[in-house]
Amino acid sequence: SVKEHGRNSYQFFKQEMNDVIQMKLILEQELLNAIEQNEFCLYYQPQICGKEHKIIGLEALIRWQHPEKGLISPDFFIPIAEESGLIIPISQWVLHEAIKTIANFKEFGFSNITMAINISQQQFKSESFHDEIARTLKTFNIPGRFLELEITESQAMENAEQTIEILHGLKKLNVSIALDDFGTGYSSLAYLKRLPIDIVKVDRSFIQDIEHDSNDAEISSAAISLSHNLGLKVIAEGVETETQLAFLKSHNCDVMQGYFFSRPLPENELLAWMKSFAS
Ligand code: C2E
Ligand code: MG
Ligand code: MG
Ligand code: MG
Repeated sequence: SVKEHGRNSYQFFKQEMNDVIQMKLILEQELLNAIEQNEFCLYYQPQICGKEHKIIGLEALIRWQHPEKGLISPDFFIPIAEESGLIIPISQWVLHEAIKTIANFKEFGFSNITMAINISQQQFKSESFHDEIARTLKTFNIPGRFLELEITESQAMENAEQTIEILHGLKKLNVSIALDDFGTGYSSLAYLKRLPIDIVKVDRSFIQDIEHDSNDAEISSAAISLSHNLGLKVIAEGVETETQLAFLKSHNCDVMQGYFFSRPLPENELLAWMKSFAS
């Protein structure tokens, strides 16, 4: 009967829900273990100056080195970490590790390189965030100007007034602020003008098809000139080809980041790459 069928599909639905909840609990437990067992690592991707052939910065990107499953991407576990609150200790670890790496690179002779880290929404809104940054910079004796905080455009626009206030506080630390994934988050121009940011990162999705999609080419060049008019520096994400690079250079894009130069690499591999790039 229909009723019977309804009940069966409800039972089925309930079972599925239980599976999902069960799955989440398992993942959260694994994430907790990962924190305790130190299974996270940072990979770093170089950022290259558009004018001179020079490395000017790095972006730190987290990976989870799972003992059985191998390297797990942040797109998979960051949302779970956000939802469970585990993002807070993970983010603290990222901040500490990334600033330590700035200090390491100074020792290796790369003394003028900025480090960008991705900031989660919970971390961004937590009251202790500002002091944590100040403390960690002090621990490693690193001036704030070497640290770049990336918040996504949609994150920034979620509560734009609050974002502006938080950013003004952070700016007192002399750190730079970058608006990540720009073009995907519907910011209003009025807010864009009021946000105390320094850098705009044009989202990879626009860079990807620059060669073949005239709309994307238009959007990318418009984003570059808009940002320049607002006094902001522009980074293009996801640069993979020589043609994309040429396009971006001809439109005066300040900084390029992408597989064309290098994939994100662990610290020791990056160091080797940087030495060969510099020479
Ligand atoms: P994102 O900040 O926009 O980082 C750029 C992503 O694009 C990275 O993916 C990077 O590996 C990838 N990428 C760079 N160049 C290219 C390219 O030329 N082609 C292609 N196809 N991809 C490229 P990844 O490392 O998997 O990170 C994904 C996202 O996870 C990041 O996006 C960021 O939102 C988040 N994430 C990464 N690390 C952290 C972290 O430490 N904390 C937080 N809260 N989020 C993080
Ligand atoms: Mg980023
Ligand atoms: Mg991005
Ligand atoms: Mg992204």
